[in-house]
Amino acid sequence: MKHSPNSPILLTSSLHVDEARKAISQLVKELIEESRALHDPKDIETVSLDQAINRILAQDLLSPIDVPAADNSAMDGYAFNGKCLGTGDNNISLEIVGTAFAGKPYKGKINQGECLKIMTGAVMPADCDTVIPQELTITQTETQIEFKQNLLKPGENRRLRGEDLKQSKPAIQAGRLLRPSDLGLAASLGISTLQVKRKLKVAILSSGDELRSLEQTLDAGSIYDSNRYSLTGLLNRLNLEIIDCGIVRDDPTALKQAFIDAATKSDVLISSGGVSVGEADFTKQIMQELGDVGFWKIAMRPGRPMAFGILKATAGASERKTLFFGLPGNPVAVMVTFYQFVRAALLQLNGSNQTEPPMTQAISEAPIRKKPGRTEFQRAILGRNAEGRPTVRLTGSQGAGILRSMSEANCFVILAHDQGNIAAGDWVDVALFEGLL
Ligand code: AMP
Ligand code: MG
Repeated sequence: MKHSPNSPILLTSSLHVDEARKAISQLVKELIEESRALHDPKDIETVSLDQAINRILAQDLLSPIDVPAADNSAMDGYAFNGKCLGTGDNNISLEIVGTAFAGKPYKGKINQGECLKIMTGAVMPADCDTVIPQELTITQTETQIEFKQNLLKPGENRRLRGEDLKQSKPAIQAGRLLRPSDLGLAASLGISTLQVKRKLKVAILSSGDELRSLEQTLDAGSIYDSNRYSLTGLLNRLNLEIIDCGIVRDDPTALKQAFIDAATKSDVLISSGGVSVGEADFTKQIMQELGDVGFWKIAMRPGRPMAFGILKATAGASERKTLFFGLPGNPVAVMVTFYQFVRAALLQLNGSNQTEPPMTQAISEAPIRKKPGRTEFQRAILGRNAEGRPTVRLTGSQGAGILRSMSEANCFVILAHDQGNIAAGDWVDVALFEGLL
């Protein structure tokens, strides 16, 4: 069976999480390849380093210099020519002829029997290849040092020119989701701006008659719209352009118009609510008119129903295609489906080569009930036990609407599709929120 939006899955069949991810990735790939997309995801812009965090590098960043630019000392100590070293345990005595500071190279010559007092990072004189760290010397006066010769080998404690990075070689590869260390690396090469992918425009909207915005008062049966705020937070982590399309009522005309408006302004539209069994028919009908959208029942918990596909909106003369995610309304399900499906798609669409979030493993402190046949995302706190090994414990009640389980957690425990019950002490897969959610 083909699980692409071209052959919408009926809500009666259940789709494996991995199959859903594959189908999404395939469609995104097609979208990237298709030049008809109004907003070409290949667009590039130049930004200064202080604006580049979490943007995606568009071209390989080639190093304009060797790093380090010259051989230099890795320690505070004394530089000398390592030829004098042997393997015996007798002492070597060297005369100190000068001092080299970081940023202030020593210009003179160092002969056999002589050494140079040298600070970490200072350029090594041409005649020297070895540094004896200060703490390894036995005696040190203003003019002389003595140390055991078998404590080090020729060439030790010296950093070589180009050891970190050779000139003209890629310092950072295209597709990198830029992190603080990348900005520091670029700065260390004297580069002040980076070529990054244009920010994706992501529209978000919440659907449901029961939803109220924060400035409204709650009447009987109504709730505040929290999903737009979790989604805004999630999208801000990726430094994207967010278009907030507010709350839309459960009314076909209003919903259709809202989808059209949002799609004409965005590369990606994320809605929440209105895709569960009771409401799917209603949304489905609208989607049929607007594009090519599949309604999936995914074998996962939380976050079972999800709609995914392409909306075709016309803007001026050209037709544009907007990637559409119809996430479930439950506040936890929204975050889980974002983490599991939307995040990777957004990164892929914008040319990132790191769409998979990092995973680790930890020991479950308590038993966890789990039915085989669906992937589960339990909210948990990663810690350490008395032996210093990583452990996880779940954050209370795990209902799909209980946002506190998410707020108090720092990770998901991810229980695989075929996995059954977990016993206390079992190792489980863990995905940390930090940096992701
Ligand atoms: P639905 O997917 O529309 O059936 O919604 C499932 C549950 O999530 C219902 O209890 C809704 O009230 C709730 N819900 C839907 N949208 C939101 C939202 N934007 N903020 C908070 N809760 C929501
Ligand atoms: Mg609803």
